[in-house]
Amino acid sequence: MTSERIAVIGAGIIGLAVARRIGQVRSGAEITVLDKENIVGAHQTSHNSGVVHAGLYYKPNSLKAVLCRRGSVLLREYCQEKGIKFDECGKLVLAINESDVIELNRIEERAKRNEVEGLRRVEPEAIREIEPHAVGIAGLYSPRTAITDFPAVARAYADDIVAAGGRLVLGQEVKAITLRSNGVAVKVSEEEKLFDRVVICAGLQSDEIAEMVGDDKEPAIVPFRGEYYRLVPAKHDLVKGLIYPVPDPNYPFLGVHFTRRVDGGVDVGPNAVLALAREGYLRRDFSPSDLLETLRWPGFQKLARKHWKMGISEMIGSLSKHQFLNRARIYIPELQDSDVVRGGAGVRAQAVDRDGSLVEDFRIHHLGKVLAVRNAPSPGATSSLAIAEHICDELFKSD
Ligand SMILES: Cc1cc2nc3c(=O)[nH]c(=O)nc-3n(C[C@H](O)[C@H](O)[C@H](O)COP(=O)(O)OP(=O)(O)OC[C@H]3O[C@@H](n4cnc5c(N)ncnc54)[C@H](O)[C@@H]3O)c2cc1C
Repeated sequence: MTSERIAVIGAGIIGLAVARRIGQVRSGAEITVLDKENIVGAHQTSHNSGVVHAGLYYKPNSLKAVLCRRGSVLLREYCQEKGIKFDECGKLVLAINESDVIELNRIEERAKRNEVEGLRRVEPEAIREIEPHAVGIAGLYSPRTAITDFPAVARAYADDIVAAGGRLVLGQEVKAITLRSNGVAVKVSEEEKLFDRVVICAGLQSDEIAEMVGDDKEPAIVPFRGEYYRLVPAKHDLVKGLIYPVPDPNYPFLGVHFTRRVDGGVDVGPNAVLALAREGYLRRDFSPSDLLETLRWPGFQKLARKHWKMGISEMIGSLSKHQFLNRARIYIPELQDSDVVRGGAGVRAQAVDRDGSLVEDFRIHHLGKVLAVRNAPSPGATSSLAIAEHICDELFKSD
């Protein structure tokens, strides 16, 4: 009997976690991970905030709520086992006015239902004890929210795959996928390879790859760039852990925050501006075909009509350091423009439905022998090990 051949498209943190898990539950399977880049974790995995979320905000019983909670526990254990930096520096969510307090109450309720460990409500005095330079009229403190090095986690998953006999095929772009009676044919560069099952974890290209197998256009990926500033070393002591605003329920992924990094630095950001290319990390990066695709997507057109004011405000913040920092200064008033320098940027693969709504939860589509991850934004990196368990349960459930 020949062994089962399974391919995972995408060597980001989710694809690698899935391939690693398949190796654990399907002994004897031939596992191949394909990526167009020459290194693992080249895109979202290496361009994010590095926060291991505790699961405060997510709708109870949603995939995000369940998989973030389990994923954060699994990741903590994994990092300990592998000696990867993992620092439970804690997260403070700050309310600065009465309407924030109402939203903070709602988040506290959700966080309790999500069984977030150690969560507590804090008053201004306790806020100052946790973060001496921050202000707020009320706060929620999550002491177990942590930071880690997600690219190092991805590299460790890749090592596990290879150690278990799997293959990483890097620098090879998947150009086509065809469902055949005898399997799934994947065209990589100019060669065609046949697999019994395929899992698509292609991040910013997840919609394009899923469409190759005949999946719906919906939801389409709309790339949003998130830009960061970085505190100069002399100002690192302004922030001890993680300081977040109360999220606006209409724009859950917006809200510039302060993030301590495992390298000792502190980032301020990210904002969210439309990226003019799916992998457009710089403002000047521009892909006519990517942009045209976004502009043509009815979901994007509806989103833009509804939220154009917020879009313009984010663009102003992108162009003006002072405006960007004005939003951060609400939480740390002594922050000066000269305290930061430009940092990196990431591009979020945010799925948008045809009706213009942002897909909130993780979304996975089944297409016979192919399974496609269609939306895995934050807390996707935190949840990677739990997403992998979930995907393997789905992939093999009919066996
Ligand atoms: C600005 C920002 C901040 C974030 N902050 C956090 C955070 O603090 N905590 C958290 O948990 N999550 C965070 N996230 C989310 C997290 O980064 C993602 O959920 C996670 O990285 C998704 O992993 P992935 O493997 O799906 O995607 P990716 O890491 O993007 O990997 C997808 C891979 O698919 C490959 N690929 C695409 N097309 C092809 C093709 N045709 N052929 C071969 N390979 C292909 C790409 O090269 C890429 O390597 C953040 C994301 C961003 C952008």
